[in-house]
Amino acid sequence: MTTATEIAFENTFVRDLEGLYLPWEAAPAPEPRLVLFNEALAAELGLDPAALRTPEGLGLLTGTVVPESATTVAQAYAGHQFGNYSPRLGDGRALLVGELVTPSGERRDLHLKGSGRTPFARGGDGKAPLGPMLREYLVSEAMHALGVPSTRSLAVVATGEHVMRDRGPEPGAVLARTASSHLRVGTFQFAAATGEIDVLRRLAEHAIARHHPGAADAERPYLELFRRVLGVQAELVARWMQLGFVHGVMNTDNMTISGETIDYGPCAFLDAHDPATVFSSIDHGGRYAYGNQPGIAQWNLARFGEALIPLIDDDSDEAIRLATEVLGEFADCYLAARDEGYRAKLGLPAGLAAGPLLEDLATLLADGRPDHTLFFRRLADAARGDAGPVRELFDDPSAVDGWLASWRAVEPDAAAMDRINPVYVPRNHLVEEALGAAVVDDDLEPVQWMLQVLSHPYDEREGYERYARPPGDDAPPFVTFCG
Ligand code: AMP
Ligand code: MG
Ligand code: MG
Repeated sequence: MTTATEIAFENTFVRDLEGLYLPWEAAPAPEPRLVLFNEALAAELGLDPAALRTPEGLGLLTGTVVPESATTVAQAYAGHQFGNYSPRLGDGRALLVGELVTPSGERRDLHLKGSGRTPFARGGDGKAPLGPMLREYLVSEAMHALGVPSTRSLAVVATGEHVMRDRGPEPGAVLARTASSHLRVGTFQFAAATGEIDVLRRLAEHAIARHHPGAADAERPYLELFRRVLGVQAELVARWMQLGFVHGVMNTDNMTISGETIDYGPCAFLDAHDPATVFSSIDHGGRYAYGNQPGIAQWNLARFGEALIPLIDDDSDEAIRLATEVLGEFADCYLAARDEGYRAKLGLPAGLAAGPLLEDLATLLADGRPDHTLFFRRLADAARGDAGPVRELFDDPSAVDGWLASWRAVEPDAAAMDRINPVYVPRNHLVEEALGAAVVDDDLEPVQWMLQVLSHPYDEREGYERYARPPGDDAPPFVTFCG
């Protein structure tokens, strides 16, 4: 058995990108206790699950035991938070342990969140409460099971300490997560702001090699990097929209270069389909509302393009012209991903011109505000001849009949729809209920049940009806808080 300290980490980030991190150590975890553990992910990473359960393993998962091969660092990044630029954010309460190369040859960061204050902590305590870390675990794993590119969650370890939040003291915890990297738009903003073109170039080269190797062969590799990041982000946000996922804090430091969803803080899934939906308690202006997400992605990508300007061409006017041209591709890219996604959700035959059907669908959803998840799931019933369940989702069921008739006329594929429209998503009221049991009553069973249900989101199973139901009409509006 390879013990936790014998695990072989690689450190290409640390090797290549001096100036973009600070070596740092985790705070002690006085009484580490494994609360959630993703055995399947451990195996995928080529790690021995039994070794991670030992005291030494828990040390690795909280950062207090560092293998010889690893160097723990806090990564530096800048970012626009709600539109305002902060030149120095960085990992205030997190550490990168190193990179694992999986048996299938993929490079994965091991990153610890809640591991104590770092030089980037500003006013923060460097800690993470158990509830929000369980939430990130649950939702990120649900996203992965739904087929959405995402960071993964390996473990949640309670530290034995209490952390103070507005709601009172809460158990502290560390989330061990993996990602194909933690490079963010904000990392490029930070590198650009150093004014040292060499730092920026090394970062771009690292990002190309790691995530977009095809860009290296282009006539202008850095412009091509911009185009490819724009492409993966357009596709990612299209997936979010189709699932009714609201990220909640799409700051530029929370947008990856890889195209994975990152930083599950105030995120939540829609119940009723309403483009103006905002869950986060701090998003007063609705900047990150459900319907604004594609536009915000483009805004963030504009900040990414700006950071790349010095690399794109020596003549900055020419660089700006080229980057602006690429940024202009976002709309087509997003709309293509969106339409392709909705065609699949509606089970449309290949080659069918679906423009009017999709446009009328958007109006139908925005006006009727049915439950987002159930609407698409129950459409398959309508395709099979039973329109009752989907009609029931509308206050005025007859409002949907006209659209249903034109859609059914194209003979949608109900079986294909069942493979793409989930029956189970992490519904807010259920997530809150499960986290409450875990944090207040120390009862992990509801979280374990949810993880199990959400691991197969497309397979409807008997006995799990409550996981598919929206909250009752008398439920209070749902609000999320930052961890
Ligand atoms: P977020 O928007 O939650 O991803 O975090 C924004 C910034 O705040 C990042 O630089 C985080 O590292 C930092 N941060 C968030 N919470 C804490 C905390 N409790 N202690 C220190 N830094 C924090
Ligand atoms: Mg963040
Ligand atoms: Mg966060």
